[in-house]
Amino acid sequence: MSNEIVFDTQYDVVVVGSGGSGKSTAYTAAKEGGLSVAILEKMPETGGTSIFAEGQAAFESSEQIARGVPKEEGRHFPTKEEGFRRFMDYSHYRANPDVVRMFVNNAAETIDVFKSLGVVYTDVLAYAMNQPDELISFHRPEGLGAYCQEVLLKAIQNLDVDIFTSTRAERLLVKDGAVVGVVTVDSDGNTLNVGAKAVVLATGGFGNSIELLEKHSLLGANARFESPPVPTQNSGDGLNMALAVGAATYNLGVAQVGYTGRGKFASSQSGAAGLQPWLWVNRHAQRFTSEELGYSFANCGMTLARQPRTDSFSILDEDMLSYLEKEGSMIALGDFVPYKSKLTGLRDELELDLAKGETAWSGNTLEELAAAIGIDPQVFTATVARYNQFCADGCDPDFYKPANLLRPVRKAPFYAVNICAAVLITCSSLRVNGNLQVTDDTYKPIPGLYAVGNEASGLYGDAYALDVPGATNGFAHTSGRVAARYIIANVRKE
Ligand SMILES: Cc1cc2nc3c(=O)[nH]c(=O)nc-3n(C[C@H](O)[C@H](O)[C@H](O)COP(=O)(O)OP(=O)(O)OC[C@H]3O[C@@H](n4cnc5c(N)ncnc54)[C@H](O)[C@@H]3O)c2cc1C
Repeated sequence: MSNEIVFDTQYDVVVVGSGGSGKSTAYTAAKEGGLSVAILEKMPETGGTSIFAEGQAAFESSEQIARGVPKEEGRHFPTKEEGFRRFMDYSHYRANPDVVRMFVNNAAETIDVFKSLGVVYTDVLAYAMNQPDELISFHRPEGLGAYCQEVLLKAIQNLDVDIFTSTRAERLLVKDGAVVGVVTVDSDGNTLNVGAKAVVLATGGFGNSIELLEKHSLLGANARFESPPVPTQNSGDGLNMALAVGAATYNLGVAQVGYTGRGKFASSQSGAAGLQPWLWVNRHAQRFTSEELGYSFANCGMTLARQPRTDSFSILDEDMLSYLEKEGSMIALGDFVPYKSKLTGLRDELELDLAKGETAWSGNTLEELAAAIGIDPQVFTATVARYNQFCADGCDPDFYKPANLLRPVRKAPFYAVNICAAVLITCSSLRVNGNLQVTDDTYKPIPGLYAVGNEASGLYGDAYALDVPGATNGFAHTSGRVAARYIIANVRKE
């Protein structure tokens, strides 16, 4: 019996996953190399988590150069060198310098590619308002990430890239030690052997796999309580397929943990009310952080992830509700809830939430509120009394929250809104070199196999931070383009 693999169809490049990294790979391979490209996407629609992204990080981009200096007084746009140093420093040198260099040196071109496709950048800014040393790298496109994905999709369709939706890549095909294709399964269960000179895993990591998060991320058993804010699609398929052919991992399990109102999307006004930097208590009825973390979703997510049931209750009073209606939100949730936007729909949304009793509760006294949430009333009233005293003193010796955020809980009725940690994505998976070739344990590339975007490791050590905002989406597009250029130059000739 012959061991020959029989291919049903063949391409120069097969890309698994149609998010930002997959589409950027396909675009570059088809446009610059004239290669035949297929994209396999297991969901009925293309886009992946990339459609939720807002902005992309870049260094010394045409947009930064044209602006000269940022709006933030006394700050400057980062150089490539500063970008490189920041990734190495905040990962405590656990990042892969080859991958970091590839990203910071090539990210500016990602912005130019999008501009050439008609994207307009309205701003380059910082993201977390309580991090004065955050690099100002966040390029905000008009129409946000969703529009970027739309233009990229049109561009690859115009280049005749074949896109197969509802088609899952199941297994890599290997011949003489080289990856030569993929076994795919469509929604009717039909399988096909798709041959390729290069297979690119653009599968988005495993942010939607509780099992893999529990096993590999710092969340451990707490991953069980996560409430995923996006459809369940990135479940570690790329990682598993690559491990089966001898790939190595690198700093496996870094998760981008954010926050959300429980069961709410980012634009929810009661969710936003819950993230205001005033008074948060955990299920032990105690404060556990400076609530200024409401400004920085990444640090906040990590902190919430350490609490019992990975959540907390944000305590609001009547004065706070009026403030949010009249003066607006103290925090920005990107474009979903802009800074200072007036939460005029808050009371209506809260009323519905209160009626359900699952994510928000109220009480005419603090004891009543504690009973409604199910936390110890004595500990809770003591926590509020201590916090109110700090507000009167203008100083928080427990967590050193800035004085301007010390707002007392005074006027009934009182409210509690549940906020919880939520994994957005994972951003470390397979070991790659600076050309995005997947390597084995000895750093030797596995011929024919590449990983990009969240499936490629190297930018992070053990945690995601907002030090370089826009880095994961910027990395997705940049790594896709760099991989494609390497494939164009080195694709195995028939
Ligand atoms: C709500 C939200 C907001 C975000 N905001 C930002 C931001 O502003 N800036 C930023 O830098 N980052 C942001 N991110 C993160 C960013 O979106 C991602 O890191 C990045 O865009 C990931 O791109 P990707 O191509 O690697 O993965 P994805 O875009 O997730 O694409 C992976 C694709 O692979 C497909 N797939 C998986 N397995 C298979 C298989 N076996 N066969 C076929 N297809 C498969 C999936 O269905 C998916 O479509 C955000 C994430 C979320 C969830």
